[in-house]
This record gives sequence, C-alpha cells and structure tokens, in this order.
Amino acid sequence: FDLRNEDLKDLRELGQGNGGSVKMAEHMPTGTIMAKKIVLIDAKPSVRKQILRELHIMHDCNSRYIVSFHGAYLADPNICICMEYMDKGSLDGIYKKIGAIDIDIVAQVALSVLEGLTYLYDVHRIIHRDIKPSNILCNSKGEIKICDFGVSGELINSIADTFVGTSTYMSPERIQGAQYTVKSDVWSLGISLIEMALGRFPFSESVSDDSDLSDLEGTLSPARPGSMGSIAALSLPVRKKPAKDASAKKDKRKSKGVSLQGGGMTMSILELLQHIVNEPAPKLTPEGRFPVEAETFVDGCLLKDPDARKTPKELLNFPWIERAKATPVDVEAWASTF
Ligand code: ATP
Ligand code: MG
Repeated sequence: FDLRNEDLKDLRELGQGNGGSVKMAEHMPTGTIMAKKIVLIDAKPSVRKQILRELHIMHDCNSRYIVSFHGAYLADPNICICMEYMDKGSLDGIYKKIGAIDIDIVAQVALSVLEGLTYLYDVHRIIHRDIKPSNILCNSKGEIKICDFGVSGELINSIADTFVGTSTYMSPERIQGAQYTVKSDVWSLGISLIEMALGRFPFSESVSDDSDLSDLEGTLSPARPGSMGSIAALSLPVRKKPAKDASAKKDKRKSKGVSLQGGGMTMSILELLQHIVNEPAPKLTPEGRFPVEAETFVDGCLLKDPDARKTPKELLNFPWIERAKATPVDVEAWASTF
C-alpha cells in the first residue's frame, strides 16, 4: 500500500542514530505498527527522488533474516523509511539492559546474520555495509533480523556528505580506503559478536573504559615512529559540508566512542582506527570462557587480510554454526525474559 505521512501516528521514539531518529508508529488505515526511520537529507529534489527509487529494491528483499520493508516517502526535508517493527529492539539495547549475552544466543545471532548477508548478496548483490549490534534486531517471536543495509548508493552518499563516518566496526582494509566487499561485513560481524558476548565494545579496553574518547584528545604523538605515515594512509568519509543541526543532535545522542570537533576529527578517532589497522585483531577472550568453536569462528571473521578472511557462506559451514543449526536454543523463551 501507499504510505503517507498523515496516515501514520507516532507512538514513541525507539532510538536515535547518526542519520536521524526511529519512531514506533501506527499506520491508522490498517492498524499496522511500524518502525519509521526519519533521515534528514541535505540533497537536491532530484537526488531525493533517486533515493526513493533506489529504496524500492527493499520491497524485493524477502527473507526471515531481513527486517521487512513497508515503504518510503519524502517528508521535506526528511526521507521516511517504514519497516517492520521489532518489539525487542536492537542487540546493543538488549545487552546494555541485561548484560553480556549468553554464547548460545550469540551463536543464533551469528547464524541469522550470516543467513541474512548470504541472502542479500546471493539474491540481490547487496553488501550490507553497516553490520553492528544496533542494526541487528530481535522480536518476541524469537526472530533475529538485520536492518539498515546499503541499498541506495545515493542515500549512502547523502549521509556520508553530512556526517563523519564514525563507524568503529570498520574493517582494516576499509579504514585504509579499500572498496567494500562482503568480507568487510564479516569483520563487522566478528566485532559485533565479541561485543555481545562480553557485554562491551571490544576495543574500549585498549582505548578508553567508558568508550568516551574525548579525554584521549591529542594523545597521539606525531613523534611516534610511523604514526603520521599511517594517518596519511587513512581514507575516511570525512564531512564535506557542516551538518545543519549536528551540534543540536549531538547533545541528545549518547557518545558512541568517538568525539568529533569542528570540521574535522580529533586525534582520538585516528588512534582507534590506527589501532584497528596496526594491532592484532581482537579475540573472544579470556581463553576458556567460551567454546573453542566460538573462538575459531570469531578468528575466521577477524582475519585482518580480507583475502584470507572467510565469506558468509564459508562461515555458515563452521562447526559453531553447524551446531547452532542442529541444536537451536529457544530464542523466544530467552526474549521473554526481558
Ligand atoms: P547509526 O545511525 O550509527 O546507524 P543506529 O543503528 O543506532 O546507529 P538508527 O538506525 O537510527 O541508529 O536506529 C536507532 C535505534 O532505533 C536502534 O538502535 C534501534 O534500537 C531502534 N530501531 C531501529 N529500527 C528498528 C525497528 N525496525 N524496530 C525496532 N527498533 C528499531
Ligand atoms: Mg540502524
């Protein structure tokens, strides 16, 4: 059906991200509850229309591992993207509420994300580009699905134009300016799995305990051998134009481990990105706390060389995932505990 803004009644806010906010809304003519993502886009009308056309592909993305799409429309200056409402929210919200997630549930998350990625890539040649716990959603039926994948090149451009890419789930090769491939999604999955299993972002220990890097500003010493050379090699989606109301938004948003200043980046985010490029990949530690199969799986996701790193399809055959398929835990029962 055709979605119109006046037919949607906002019920409550579900969360805020870099690009905008997400509201729970009721489509009054049908009584359907949806999640309405409002994205502020600083682009010409022709580009907005192009984005809407590109978003149309999402109507064809039908998989039990992908959040379904109800439709999108322009509501100047925003684009509204309406999708399936997932009543248990995102995996980051869940672990922040209940603490570290049981490794058998994490295995089901891994299985669902791999199935979703394989579907998107095999059927539509879509690379997700933004795998992280906040883009993995759960509902009370025990379904786990991914959302916010990069279907629209123009939308990706328009958002990158307005905001600095702050993603710390970014793979070493992406940080160094290489193209996205499905292997970059695999890296992001590996980081996300450790985060869920530990109940904290895996790099936070090495960078800052409360994930607020602002106190590290300026700690990157240019005198350190090689450091400037590596920075020069970094290729980041840096803001080209000042975001219109980025400062107003920033207050509302929780700091997500990066701090931005003026028109550029502080040293702290460079330090984190440098760490990803130069240091060994994180692991599922401490040793012995998790099944060896889980450790091996995460190691396969976090090979720093993208050529050596596994594809989603290969990872679906790893013993940890085979076991998750053979002996599924009751995600529905788990989801009823919070
Ligand atoms: P970023 O903007 O960096 O991608 P994000 O994923 O947290 O971060 P949004 O995509 O705007 O930002 O989502 C904000 C929050 O809204 C999410 O963290 C999630 O908890 C909630 N949310 C998003 N989509 C849905 C949905 N379909 N159903 C229920 N909750 C959702
Ligand atoms: Mg999101």
